[in-house]
Amino acid sequence: MKAAVVRAFGAPLVIEERPDPEPGPGQVRIRLEASGLCHTDIHAARGDWPVKPIPPFVPGHEGVGLVEKLGEGVTHLGVGQRVAVPWLGKACGRCEHCLSGWETLCEQQVNTGYGCDGGYAEKMLAWADFAQPVPDGVSALDAAPLTCAGVTTYKALKVAGVRPAQLVAVSGIGGLGHLAVQYAKIAGARVAAIDVTDDKLELAAELGADLVVDARKDDVGAVLRQAGGAHAAIALAVNEDAFAAVNSGLRRGGKLVMVALPAHGTIQVPIFDTVLNGTSVIGSIVGTRQDLAEVFQLHAAGRTRVISEIRSLDTVNESIDDVLRGQVKARIVFDLGTGR
Ligand code: NAD
Ligand code: ZN
Ligand code: ZN
Repeated sequence: MKAAVVRAFGAPLVIEERPDPEPGPGQVRIRLEASGLCHTDIHAARGDWPVKPIPPFVPGHEGVGLVEKLGEGVTHLGVGQRVAVPWLGKACGRCEHCLSGWETLCEQQVNTGYGCDGGYAEKMLAWADFAQPVPDGVSALDAAPLTCAGVTTYKALKVAGVRPAQLVAVSGIGGLGHLAVQYAKIAGARVAAIDVTDDKLELAAELGADLVVDARKDDVGAVLRQAGGAHAAIALAVNEDAFAAVNSGLRRGGKLVMVALPAHGTIQVPIFDTVLNGTSVIGSIVGTRQDLAEVFQLHAAGRTRVISEIRSLDTVNESIDDVLRGQVKARIVFDLGTGR
């Protein structure tokens, strides 16, 4: 099978031929159809974060495909069934976090495309209990971005407790942001979309954003305050200054939800304003299996649109460069054999 491999941090990925992996107990082997390029994969390939993957590894945590082989003890999935393999490759199922509905915080978790090989390949392994069945009516190409960009932003809005009639600021209208705008609209909120490229701002308006803010020329905080202040600001831009900008546009009691993970990122939070205004800063990491099931249900019901550019895995290195330059439609998805 073909796989795109990170051999060293910061070096181009190498397309290699590898033997098909054999599923161990509790695992399945998947013949991939589609795999999304999340900005996290770029952070992984560059070794951007304090906890690093160990090269060589295959990135990718938006892999979707058909189950090809069942490992010992797997009874609830069948050969030929379409599944998605998210960032949460496996969690322990026994700790306080797993038992309280916060499996995404499990300290024993293994992350797909980071702690084990991921979806930039023709085949991959997954732990069957965390391979998410994809409902009929959701194509592999659409399911891929939903598997991380979708579930992560859907969860971020839950964490923010967004309610109808609130103002939600979405900072960064890329893979994650284009779905965040739609979930905020589904929740009934008014949406302010912020980005630094014309294409993304146009896309946000097309997806229903009520207010479009160009961070290249507008004072983001001032525009948001003028609109009444944001009840929630979802920080998805890979840029520290964008976090501070959107934080300054919160209304009293508002919440900054940190999602993007710029390398070595820190922000200064003014103590006086935070205390007097009663604002909060919350981190949000992907979503649970139940969150992903809900994301797929919404898509199957026709309530979300996935905007993507379909490419071959051979373009992986130029695709990464294009994402870094902001020159792609919301998400790049590698077609690994949908037969289109
Ligand atoms: P992306 O590159 O597709 O999107 C980023 C967007 O931010 C682009 O549209 C870009 O034009 C815009 N942008 C850049 N600078 C900006 C600025 N100053 N102000 C406003 N917008 C700006 O990336 P993505 O795949 O959507 O991922 C975004 C981030 O989220 C990455 O850091 C990724 O690692 C992280 N992430 C976190 C989680 C989580 O669970 N917390 C999950 C997935 C991804
Ligand atoms: Zn991701
Ligand atoms: Zn656990």
